[in-house]
Amino acid sequence: MDEHGDWVAFLNCGHRQHVRHRPPFEERPWVITEIERSKKIGKPMDCLRCDRFEMPDDFKAYRKTAEFNERTVPKSLRRDHSTKPGVWAKIQVIEGKLNYRIDAPGTQFELSPGVPGIVIPEVRHHVEPVGSVRFFVEFYQRPVNDSEDG
Ligand SMILES: [Zn+2]
Repeated sequence: MDEHGDWVAFLNCGHRQHVRHRPPFEERPWVITEIERSKKIGKPMDCLRCDRFEMPDDFKAYRKTAEFNERTVPKSLRRDHSTKPGVWAKIQVIEGKLNYRIDAPGTQFELSPGVPGIVIPEVRHHVEPVGSVRFFVEFYQRPVNDSEDG
């Protein structure tokens, strides 16, 4: 519950979503009782921010891969794979072009310098070089104890 008394769902993607019951516009009677709320834990919810490929604002880069080219791109990246819950990634092209395919919604992007590919947690995807290319992948997650560092 936030400071206004509204319930907030913590999603595996890292987004936090208000789940309000304010009829007639927002109908979520289940949010009122603890028993009904607990039944929703672990159940899928739509996430508009994931639909828009928006990484959670407070996420920080914590690791990046070596630089790959069309000859050294690991087989694991050419096959369908996904990141763990709560882990986003950015595919950064330094030079050339790279196809970034997401099979579930049938979406494809052509990545180039300045046009990164945003990888949503647990969403299966793969990449395919288009001619010669240089790229790396950066991983992001919510910082642990971020507020206690200072
Ligand atoms: Zn989300």
